[in-house]
Amino acid sequence: MTSKKELSAQYGHYGEKLDKALKLVSKGSVKLHKFLPSGREIWTVVGREGDQLVDDSQPYCSCGHFYYQVLSNKDDICYHLLGLKVAKKTKEFDLIEFQDSEYPSLLESILKDIAKPLRKAKNTENIK
Ligand SMILES: [Zn+2]
Repeated sequence: MTSKKELSAQYGHYGEKLDKALKLVSKGSVKLHKFLPSGREIWTVVGREGDQLVDDSQPYCSCGHFYYQVLSNKDDICYHLLGLKVAKKTKEFDLIEFQDSEYPSLLESILKDIAKPLRKAKNTENIK
């Protein structure tokens, strides 16, 4: 079990972002969707703006902060990805098992959830 001390030693420099990430983890917002028998994994984090698709091996997150700040090197991580890292360390995440045959429909519903706020954000930008 990873202690709070170890976490703040490793991620403490993220300050407020670490607090947000810890909150996500303690609320059980980090979810692993595991598909059987292939063992394929989809990680999602439920944040303020809804579900985000996250992958710390890439790294990738579907949120706006990642897109606008991280990909342009203004920031190195978003709080969803940080939450995922913390959750993997502390093993505090929801494991949900699915059959491989459910993979396309689950992925589709996650992507739909992600696209909705992005569309909205784009519209408000046009108004400005
Ligand atoms: Zn994110």
